[in-house]
Amino acid sequence: MATLSPYKIPFLGLSVGFHTYEFELDDSFFAAYEFSEITHADIQIDLELEKQSTMMVLKFELGGVVETECARCGDPLEIEIEHSDRLVVKFGDTTGTSDDDILEISTSEHLLDLSQYLYEYAHLALPSRSVHEDEEDCNPDALDLLDDLGVDDDPDEPLDPRWDALKDLK
Ligand SMILES: [Zn+2]
Repeated sequence: MATLSPYKIPFLGLSVGFHTYEFELDDSFFAAYEFSEITHADIQIDLELEKQSTMMVLKFELGGVVETECARCGDPLEIEIEHSDRLVVKFGDTTGTSDDDILEISTSEHLLDLSQYLYEYAHLALPSRSVHEDEEDCNPDALDLLDDLGVDDDPDEPLDPRWDALKDLK
């Protein structure tokens, strides 16, 4: 059993009712994914799984700290995350996702692999744009360079009203 991924749940033998699990996601988890935006992580996950006769309902609570890249200056950026999500797993004839939140799993399987879901939930927990909250915390050299290159910081983003206030000060 030692070789089993800690993120696989042997659901076949579970009794009907509630079961709870705890997972941790660390650097090595995300290092396995080439396109992970998360470079370092210390995430705790509580999972409440309700097994019913034809399906399972899984409720996830994620919390912790991750490191990603600031989208403005490229420096490492630490972010506290909190996210909850829900997954319904229906027992069927084949295994495959029928919907974002509904997974059909064949009863010929006996393990439910959650790693892809946990990876996605952690990324969903990131803000839509990860930047140093205060531009002054950004790497000044990187910002100067962007300035020199004439790169517009936010071509598509509506101006943050707080920045408008700053402009008035000038
Ligand atoms: Zn930054």
